[in-house]
Amino acid sequence: MIDQYQRKIEYVRISLTDRCNLRCRYCMPEAGIEKLHHEDILTFAEILRVVQALAALGVRKVRLTGGEPLVRRGIVDLVRAIRSVPGIEQVVLTTNGVLLDELAGPLVAAGLSGVNISLDTLRPDVFAEITRRPLFERVEKGIESLQALGLTDIKFNCVPIAGVNEEEIPALVGLARDRAVKVRFIELMPIGCAYEVGYKGVAMDRVRALIERAYGPLKAAGIKAGAVNGPAVYYRLSGFKGEVGFIDAMEHKFCASCNRVRLTAEGFLKLCLNAKTGIDIRKLLRDGISDDNLRLAVYHAIYHKPEEHFFLAKDNDARDSRAMVQVGG
Ligand code: SAM
Ligand code: SF4
Repeated sequence: MIDQYQRKIEYVRISLTDRCNLRCRYCMPEAGIEKLHHEDILTFAEILRVVQALAALGVRKVRLTGGEPLVRRGIVDLVRAIRSVPGIEQVVLTTNGVLLDELAGPLVAAGLSGVNISLDTLRPDVFAEITRRPLFERVEKGIESLQALGLTDIKFNCVPIAGVNEEEIPALVGLARDRAVKVRFIELMPIGCAYEVGYKGVAMDRVRALIERAYGPLKAAGIKAGAVNGPAVYYRLSGFKGEVGFIDAMEHKFCASCNRVRLTAEGFLKLCLNAKTGIDIRKLLRDGISDDNLRLAVYHAIYHKPEEHFFLAKDNDARDSRAMVQVGG
């Protein structure tokens, strides 16, 4: 569907849980966040109804995220069910990779077509420092299992942090040398505990400069026609099979081409990552709304998607400064 600012909305990110098996310093405090009660989280049947409504309005791509989506039991069945909703062409996942070793095979067999793995470092000690958990080897095994399945849509997402993983940027880009994967750099955003823990992001211009110093010039890559794309801008490097991407939400706003909405674990349809506006779908579902009225309610909400994000607005009531883990990163 088209919203009031003429943007085509065809992508939904669904958070399956607010729980996580890591405690990344920029995302969650050590003690975790106050957990949602089980009954407050949308059931799979409820999620499916929302996906059906969205698909009827033109959404083609679903990304499952969290918290850590792989800690939600039954995710393989959910992937299979979403994949079979008419109109849904792609079901993809964003994960920290800890549970991928056991789940990658069943998920791909169920119809998962792409995986984004958050990978800020290739060093076990730095991994333990950032995530507060010594689980790098499990992530490494998970990545190997995934790559062995021959999935073509694999992306690695890295948040560069000054003095923490900055010097590993060229090594991370090296993952795209021999494989057709995408390595993407995402700007540290002023949400969650990013700044409280003293982390400072690395400017994307510096990230680019470090990459070019190591591998030569970055050349703009073409955009695939017909694909449901995200906000990343991709580049090629000479001799590389894969690509390098940059997502710098703060520096260059991509709101004008935003094609997505978000569904939080507790069933709030969020219209912008950083704004509170949206509708409480869980309430509508549990009050017994019909499929037709659900579709109408979703249509009206999306039509009023905000024009742009509020990251730089101070004390703005509309701003939502909750952690990524709570809103579905
Ligand atoms: N647990 C899964 C994972 O880590 O991939 C999915 C959810 S996580 C919230 C999604 C993404 O949000 C991760 O790639 C993480 O690096 C990113 N993220 C979390 N807090 C962030 C922040 N303050 N700034 C930028 N990215 C952040
Ligand atoms: Fe968990 Fe992902 Fe947040 Fe890290 S970024 S704490 S893996 S939800």
